Amino acid sequence: MFYISTRGQTRPHTFSEAVEAGLATDGGLFLPEKLPDIAGKLAGWASLSYAELAAEFFQLFAPEIPAEEWRALTQEAYSKFDSPDVAPLKKLSDQIHVLELWHGPTLAFKDFALQLLGLLYKRQVKLKGKKLAVLGATSGDTGSAAIHGCMGQDGIDIFILYPNGRVAPLQERQMACTGASNVYAIPMPGTFDDAQGVVKECFGDPAFVSAVNLSAVNSINIARVLAQCVYYIWAWLKLPAEARATVEFVVPTGNFGNVLAGWLAQQMGLPCGGFRVATNQNDILYRFFESGEYKQGEVRPSYAPSMDIQAASNFERYLYFLLGKDQEQVRQVMLRMKQGERVTLPKPKSSFRATRMDDAMIADTIAQVWRDYSYVVDPHTACAFTGLAEDRVSVVLSTASPAKFPEVVQEATGTEPLHPTLEALKDKALQTYPLESSPEPLKAFIREKVSGK
Ligand SMILES: *Cc1c(COP(=O)(O)O)cnc(C)c1O
Repeated sequence: MFYISTRGQTRPHTFSEAVEAGLATDGGLFLPEKLPDIAGKLAGWASLSYAELAAEFFQLFAPEIPAEEWRALTQEAYSKFDSPDVAPLKKLSDQIHVLELWHGPTLAFKDFALQLLGLLYKRQVKLKGKKLAVLGATSGDTGSAAIHGCMGQDGIDIFILYPNGRVAPLQERQMACTGASNVYAIPMPGTFDDAQGVVKECFGDPAFVSAVNLSAVNSINIARVLAQCVYYIWAWLKLPAEARATVEFVVPTGNFGNVLAGWLAQQMGLPCGGFRVATNQNDILYRFFESGEYKQGEVRPSYAPSMDIQAASNFERYLYFLLGKDQEQVRQVMLRMKQGERVTLPKPKSSFRATRMDDAMIADTIAQVWRDYSYVVDPHTACAFTGLAEDRVSVVLSTASPAKFPEVVQEATGTEPLHPTLEALKDKALQTYPLESSPEPLKAFIREKVSGK
């Protein structure tokens, strides 16, 4: 199995190479050259545990890693989840099920991918005998999930930049209170985009990249998308048989990574009904699925900050299929978008519906779901609870624990949502490494920390 770039100007990579590289050198994203057919395997997968299912699935994508090893990797990756089901499917009514994706260490769905990615990094370090410096910028959830995937791993140091004062206090604590000696939470003046710019400049210096063996952690790694396919299959297998063929997965969406994973599983032969893209007021994807027009606007901060995105980085992977796998056309469309041109794309197939929700409606919806089902949702998950299909079962993907967003949730339900993991953080000392928002001091810092061990 090889991985190709959506833009067609990078040589085929193995799974491990694609995971290590993250982004293809032509600026495109990696995808399997051919999707395997899983339809015939589903019945045999029904009785597996979550970790066993993930191991079976990944063997199809990286047969060069032995089956035994995949089982050990997935077992370890999902051992830190606080539910025996890892991704429990809860029934709110005959029509509505919720797939809770927040039982991992940082209480958001990104743990599914980043717990595994941390172990894949560790495996590379062992194989190559070379230490790794992992660098990324975050507006909240990705950084904490990445830190929890890498902390305490031999041979890895992780450096996460974030805009000072602009991430939620609990998210900062999740990054800066680990006590792990290989974790560096680095607040910088400015915005997320400024921090992201500093990361890019570091990667633009090949001598530095090779000196410290720098690797990027971001939302576009192919291993992340594949890890997310697994819970769609898991949920589908847990549904009553008569609901499966028409079920609609409803996915709170920002970078289009989560919902893309479900759609890919469908392309591999998971016989489900379809998907709904649920956005907040940053509705570029809603507008695209309504009209075919993909046009970036300004980001407007919302109650669902992990979806405050106007350039959905994983969208390019869907575009590749939408444009009939014509990589040259993908490359040109992406270039035109980058120049701010208005691009009209072929009307997407009917597998997708889309909805959007503003902040006032998010607050109302949290209250409404609480009244109707005695169930508390976080502001991201709330975005899914509009336009629910009446004629078939919906599976709502719940992407974060309500306890991560106590103010909005308390306001809407009258009760403060608490979680022991977050309570424990409140007493711990914050350890941060503030730096200027420019590349040279950061490079010096990374060199010093990497060589000091
Ligand atoms: C990252 C995130 C999302 C958006 O996921 P994408 O893959 O970017 O679409 C939604 N909810 C929460 C809580 C998140 O952390």
